[in-house]
Amino acid sequence: MLVASIAIIGTGYVGLTTGACFSHLGHDVVCADIDEAKVASLSAGEIPIVEKGLDRLVDEGLRSGKLRFVVGAAEASKDAEFHYLCVPTPQSADGSADLSYLETAAAQISGVLPHGSVVVNKSTVPVGSTRVVAKVLDRTDVAVVSNPEFLREGTAVNDFLQPDRVVIGSQDQEAAIRVAALYSRIAAPVMVTDPVSAETIKYASNAFLASKLSFVNAIATLCEAVGADVSDVVLGMGYDRRIGREFLRPGPGWGGSCFPKDTKALARIAEDAGYNFHFLDEVLRVNEDQFDRTAQKLIDAMPSEPDGKHIAALGLTFKAGTDDLRDSPSIEVLQRVTAAGFKVKAYDPAVTPDHNRLSEMYPDLDIEIMSDPYAAAENAAVLTILTEWDEFTWLDFDKLAEIMDGNNIVDGRNLLDPTIPRRRGFNYRGVGR
Ligand code: NAD
Repeated sequence: MLVASIAIIGTGYVGLTTGACFSHLGHDVVCADIDEAKVASLSAGEIPIVEKGLDRLVDEGLRSGKLRFVVGAAEASKDAEFHYLCVPTPQSADGSADLSYLETAAAQISGVLPHGSVVVNKSTVPVGSTRVVAKVLDRTDVAVVSNPEFLREGTAVNDFLQPDRVVIGSQDQEAAIRVAALYSRIAAPVMVTDPVSAETIKYASNAFLASKLSFVNAIATLCEAVGADVSDVVLGMGYDRRIGREFLRPGPGWGGSCFPKDTKALARIAEDAGYNFHFLDEVLRVNEDQFDRTAQKLIDAMPSEPDGKHIAALGLTFKAGTDDLRDSPSIEVLQRVTAAGFKVKAYDPAVTPDHNRLSEMYPDLDIEIMSDPYAAAENAAVLTILTEWDEFTWLDFDKLAEIMDGNNIVDGRNLLDPTIPRRRGFNYRGVGR
């Protein structure tokens, strides 16, 4: 089996997963970050993020010596054959992707890249960015390849090791074959195309999934208006293989670190290319409406004179199985209800009460974090589920009926079987049913 030396530049959700999985596949991996504290804790085997199975792979890599963590991109790249850029590409003020992290990382490694090595861009970048990286590198002896990442947080390790596809975009066929060989132990179709098409595949995939979610949320709104049950509607739709069941789940709106920024970036890419992608504007607008609608359901469920009573919010992360709070739909909804003057006590299994990340990310969000769902629910007028953590399906409704000072449940994820809370006297409101 081919064993390659791989440098990972940027050890976040994507970089750490990529590095740990490549080392698990037998490659020699060095992961770099600029965050010294993160490098120190990773070197000690402490995982800074919640991601199923990642701790085991990092532990395995550290023990075998196939996985190391260092500070600084150049330190990782100086002896590697492949250099994976996994740095952030956040949204800039005009909606386009900010390439400054990518350009900085490329500039940092340019002088140390061994002759004949391959720089692989795994960050999600606008069409044409492979050329931008090549320009910053300014190395004719180094190939630049696009290899977008499709992993989902919460199932990142599984998604990396069992992907639906591996996409490689390269003008240099030999470099594409070398990158494809890194995945030789993975059973998945490998598609080689040009860099611009690879970059477009990534954005088009995320924008399509976001569109599917906006569509199902719009259908859920229609179901509420006509008295249909969205759960049955999506089941009936999903049997059609052309539609499929995945991602036909209504919720409080979609979010996370990728969909909002990538959908906006694709609209911007289209605009720059002379095409007005109105469709995506509508996808984004439907999503804003969904945040508003969910917040309004909570406000409607509160007594007209709250008298200090609060909303108990279960779930803060953008989805279950991760601690990622970036662009979380739950936060969008809670920002709206707190702005309307309502008090919120929240619980999330991945956000501890002393967790200062939430207040660092959302300094204006005035909510109280509790250590368990019942502490949040005590004396609450309304209980809402905003993230689909499995543990919320096992709530003790007898206990909730005793400790709450109200009987309204707003299930923003359709997580519960409505008959269970209703049997205990709760008014249950889901999404589209
Ligand atoms: P992240 O913020 O979790 O991690 C990025 C890391 O890069 C941070 O630890 C940061 O300190 C580090 N970094 C920044 N500049 C650096 C430099 N010059 N040298 C070394 N380290 C540096 O980001 P992420 O969620 O892993 O996303 C990375 C990219 O992958 C983005 O383009 C994103 O759109 C894309 N992506 C993300 C996901 C996801 O689910 N998170 C999925 C697919 C693609």
